[in-house]
Amino acid sequence: MNVPLLDLSLQNEPLQGEIMEAISRVIKSNGFILGAEVQGLETKIAEYCGAKYAIGVSSGTDALLISLMALDIGPGDEVITTTFSFFATAGAIARLGAKPVLVDIDPVTYNIDPAKIEEKITSRTRAILPVHLYGQCADSEPIWEIAKKHKLKVIEDAAQTIGAQYRDGRRAGNLGDLGCFSFFPSKNLGCFGDGGMVVTNQTELYEKVRILRVHGSKPKYYHSLVGGNFRLDSLQAAILNVKFSMLEDWHEQRRENVKRYNEMFSNTNLVKNNFVQLPVAVYEDSGVKNYHIFNQFVVRVSKRDALREYLKEKGIGSEVYYPVPFHLQDCFQSLGHKAGDFPEAEKAANDTLALPVFPGLTQAQQENVVKQITTFFE
Ligand SMILES: *Cc1c(COP(=O)(O)O)cnc(C)c1O
Repeated sequence: MNVPLLDLSLQNEPLQGEIMEAISRVIKSNGFILGAEVQGLETKIAEYCGAKYAIGVSSGTDALLISLMALDIGPGDEVITTTFSFFATAGAIARLGAKPVLVDIDPVTYNIDPAKIEEKITSRTRAILPVHLYGQCADSEPIWEIAKKHKLKVIEDAAQTIGAQYRDGRRAGNLGDLGCFSFFPSKNLGCFGDGGMVVTNQTELYEKVRILRVHGSKPKYYHSLVGGNFRLDSLQAAILNVKFSMLEDWHEQRRENVKRYNEMFSNTNLVKNNFVQLPVAVYEDSGVKNYHIFNQFVVRVSKRDALREYLKEKGIGSEVYYPVPFHLQDCFQSLGHKAGDFPEAEKAANDTLALPVFPGLTQAQQENVVKQITTFFE
């Protein structure tokens, strides 16, 4: 029995009629850039996050880039972030000529360890950029405290975590000055290409991001800022407007799958014998609904690479998010780090594995995943 890491057709097929209608509507409107579909989506996402404003942009990467630009971050500035994330997080900082200042992770959540932030602050530090990895918010209260104390801005990389709640109920993207989302197809809310969103509560930042999105132009053809083309397509927004109606349901299905995995794994000796460590949802007991949205179900395993090969032979998809932390990437050699600098991130890069958790995954498929892992370790 094949078990792909992600099967998007299970999300898209039931919505196909509605999606085709939405696409036809856009084609008939002859408006393909921004427009009513994008505005509609912006209103929905802002409301969903409990934020005042949302601005549709061209990708999650561009959401990060434009947020940093809105804060005038550039050469000579430092931005504190995690060393363990998708490349875009640190890449956006470096592309603007600023320096990504890296911090190790909390080994339980894989998110930035707030206790290690303050020692990295210098007179050049401008912002903190926490990532809410795999679908669970970074511990944001202490980050906010540090930012307030040192007058720093907070940009959240919530690309994997739309809708997730912090322990106080606030949603990802609404836990800082600017929140960044991605609609890359594999995220919990994905479009049919690239797309992203920035959310904020601050009118000034909202205006600035909107202007930067269209080459810094306001009014048209008059440029007070140098921006870029960071626009979201009407077609992608129209598709997202349809898919959005299912988002909470999909989050719930992912959590149900996780509960099933947890039961199945605890009926084996894998956890007891330390071959497998299950992910921990640290806000589960705080009573918020979306304590984790499980964009990824990431376990720690021994013999990770051999296990991954074995699962592949058995038709089971898995992935390593991410095999190389930022401080060991060739392009960041100039930061002057070496192996051993961030031991928790290095350990996670070596022993974590994402298993299928998508909405629509069947119990039989999950049983097969657990069975094959059990067989591998026997
Ligand atoms: C997906 C992702 C991004 C980038 O989003 P794109 O839409 O692919 O540009 C940034 N950060 C994290 C943590 C991501 O998972």
